[in-house]
Amino acid sequence: MPETPAHSPRPAWLAAIQLASGCAVGAAGAALLGAADVPDWMAGLGGALAGVTCARALDSLANPTAKRAVQPMISAALDPAPSELPPLLLAALDAAPAPVMIVLPGGRLMALNRSARERFGLASPGGRIEAAVRNPDLINAVNASLLDGQIRQVQFATPVPVERFERAIVAPFETAGRRLVLLTIADETEQRVSERMRADFLANASHELRTPLASIAGFIETLRGPARDDAEARDRFLKIMDDQASRMSRLIADLTSLSRIELLERVAPTGTVSLTTLVGDVVEALPQRDLIKLSIPDEAVDVIGDADQITQVLTNLLDNAAKYGVGRPVSVEVSGGLTRENAVLAAGRQWPDALRLPLSSPSHEPGRSYAVLRVADEGPGIAREELPRLTERFYRVETTSRGVPGTGLGLAIVKHIINRHRGGVMVETRPGRGTAFSVYMPQPTGI
Ligand code: ADP
Repeated sequence: MPETPAHSPRPAWLAAIQLASGCAVGAAGAALLGAADVPDWMAGLGGALAGVTCARALDSLANPTAKRAVQPMISAALDPAPSELPPLLLAALDAAPAPVMIVLPGGRLMALNRSARERFGLASPGGRIEAAVRNPDLINAVNASLLDGQIRQVQFATPVPVERFERAIVAPFETAGRRLVLLTIADETEQRVSERMRADFLANASHELRTPLASIAGFIETLRGPARDDAEARDRFLKIMDDQASRMSRLIADLTSLSRIELLERVAPTGTVSLTTLVGDVVEALPQRDLIKLSIPDEAVDVIGDADQITQVLTNLLDNAAKYGVGRPVSVEVSGGLTRENAVLAAGRQWPDALRLPLSSPSHEPGRSYAVLRVADEGPGIAREELPRLTERFYRVETTSRGVPGTGLGLAIVKHIINRHRGGVMVETRPGRGTAFSVYMPQPTGI
């Protein structure tokens, strides 16, 4: 027979019911309590049952003073303290990786496991379900299941701080004559985000590939017909077809990489990367390295990051600087050990007369140090009205003078990678004189 745990003292409300109610079922609850080999939580359920019957008895009590005195005890019996669950059950609930809660009739939380406490920012049970879960559909489902005993499912989305999609299972159960609800919540974010991404990818890919494909098909038609014997036209058209085919490959590569990055975005990287070494290596390997003015501190600057993704950020920014700065010098600058305010200054406030805009900002993390990577060119600059749209997918400024159009995905990729790194992106531009794109990222603590 299990022993009554020594560390869970018999609750006062049960003893009070024993003494005060004097009704027959109260005595039955008390009898449960009296048995040394019955665990407290069972006694609690016995007590709750006693309370229900006492409530009926109470209605027949003629004396209003007696009624007032006994009422709180009965309420307590109907609403037992969360500590009444046996430690083994509490430990098992805590081991469950998903949020689990037990809801009492009336909506009070009897128990919530560790995952539920973390998910809903609650320290302990005892509060009401409405205070923990703000979704009205879910609260309605819990209340309805408490009433009719039917199992329900509710899908709900939480847009902030990070978008989440969850499915709650509201499973009623009965014990000691009362109906409670076991509420479990499954995180379906990854599945939903990847479904949405697949759909977006298909829509984007088919839309963006349609134009170059139509153009290639058109030239094939012309080469078969009117231009069949025109050698000069054939060379020209083949060159255009070649450009369009490379553009399609770039589009597919960029779209694939953007989808992969978005899928990982909610999981921040945990590795440490030496930004100084990475930037030095990438610049060293560039064909246009003679045009690059590198400014890197003597001491290493580390960031919490994914080296491949940071390389992609740097490559995209350098590609744009080379593409739009056509043959003019590009400066690449790294700095570290900055507060968030100073990182923002180093990233996007170096030119007094410039237009500037944060394209992405991390949530505040007190005491965190940041490192900055800034790539500045001497290109045409960017007009004020274009700035807010730069990181949108497929946004391109249509100017024929800038040569073959890009994919319009380079800066979207930069933004998603830096979001994943819990960092920020800034742009600073002087129309006619140049543009600087900068990113700042958190550094490992202790720097
Ligand atoms: P892409 O360069 O492939 O078109 P991006 O997402 O990298 O796509 O850039 C989006 C748009 O932002 C570009 O079409 C261009 O108009 C503008 N842009 C990006 N970088 C620069 C820069 N360094 N100087 C001027 N304009 C730029």
